Amino acid sequence: MNEKYLIINAGSSSLKFSLYEIPEVKEIVNGCVEKIGNEDSFYTLKYDDKKEEKVKVIMNHTQAVETMLYELLINNFISDVNEIKGVGHRVLHGGEKYFDSVVIDDEVINDIVDLTKLGPLHHPGNLSGILAMQKAIPHIPQIAVFDTSFHQTINEENYIYPIPYSWYNENGVRKYGFHGTSHKYITETMQQYLDKKDVNLIICHIGSGASMSAIKNGKSCDTTMGLTPLDGLMMGTRSGSIDPSIIEYICKERNLTVSEVTNILNKESGLKGISGVNDFRDVTALAKQGNHNAKLAIKLFEKSIVKYIAQYYFELNGDVDAIIFTAGVGENMSYVREDIVNLISKPMGIKINKEINDNIAKFKQYQSGVITTDDSKIKVMVIPTNEELMILKDTVRLTKKSKDLNKEKKLTK
Ligand code: ADP
Repeated sequence: MNEKYLIINAGSSSLKFSLYEIPEVKEIVNGCVEKIGNEDSFYTLKYDDKKEEKVKVIMNHTQAVETMLYELLINNFISDVNEIKGVGHRVLHGGEKYFDSVVIDDEVINDIVDLTKLGPLHHPGNLSGILAMQKAIPHIPQIAVFDTSFHQTINEENYIYPIPYSWYNENGVRKYGFHGTSHKYITETMQQYLDKKDVNLIICHIGSGASMSAIKNGKSCDTTMGLTPLDGLMMGTRSGSIDPSIIEYICKERNLTVSEVTNILNKESGLKGISGVNDFRDVTALAKQGNHNAKLAIKLFEKSIVKYIAQYYFELNGDVDAIIFTAGVGENMSYVREDIVNLISKPMGIKINKEINDNIAKFKQYQSGVITTDDSKIKVMVIPTNEELMILKDTVRLTKKSKDLNKEKKLTK
């Protein structure tokens, strides 16, 4: 029988949602409530080939959830809220406790509150979404899917920073890693594709946020993002790893606070810091016009990816089944993939298959495949990521588990 599940991604001022039907995994409708808490808030609904935008003052997440459920009902996407079997919430940080997604109860809520110190930009919004959903449909299981969980298999020699150890065991400073649902999705897709569990991969999730991971025997063994998503690769607006002394130096030089500098490193750096624009399409257009800084930004960006490919190649002892490009830039920007393959071509014994690489770019959403020549020693591939599907899978799995547990409890009473 068909079942419906709701996936929620709540931020501080927005609430994105998608309603899915399984078993055939069909997205019935998706939408987003934006500018929550502002007078000019509005929401959009997308279904079939239609897109509707409606203006409504929505002051908080509770009202956002009420509006969403109202729209699902009046448009007959559901005939009753009880048709929703489970709700999956994207949550940024699961700290060291959550290796997997989890059914939300009071303890999980308290942990998400405690972890706000590690996810100050995301957790208040994530939490408001959960609490609003619980209030609206308290009897329906709610599942938290953490962006960090997949990377909890990283061992301590890869997650400890060389700083006082007490910062780790007293304050929780360590590498956690993010984009876990995407890295997990690509890993599972490759396990199916290669028909083996023990895959060794280098995954390049290159969107406006970007991170890479080394996958050993099907498990994350290193990743580029750290305590926060600021670490690692250069990104659209984030600097990635830089000399930490820059912070104190520039605070003094430009009379800025640490928070101001951290904000600039998150929102005004990366591609934007060098070229003035953060969207890769805009940087590309500027570079085509001959703009020096746009060309420089692209070079720095590509080199930061090459640096980690090299590091992870050694981490995996040269035993790599495939290097995979995914997310906005990784899926769409064929010239970036080509440049990167050319930069690693000689040491890795690989060559770009230009025709396939360009074609995958053209027909993107629907195509994945190998972009290196048959005689290359390592496959380089493009696989479109699907974080929502991953969240849906966990939500279905844990909703069923939660129902089985409830049945068991009733039987033992
Ligand atoms: P995030 O999820 O972190 O917001 P995305 O994975 O959506 O990021 O990637 C956004 C980046 O991908 C932008 O730099 C954008 O230029 C690029 N991008 C997205 N879609 C396309 C496309 N169709 N063609 C070219 N580039 C794209």
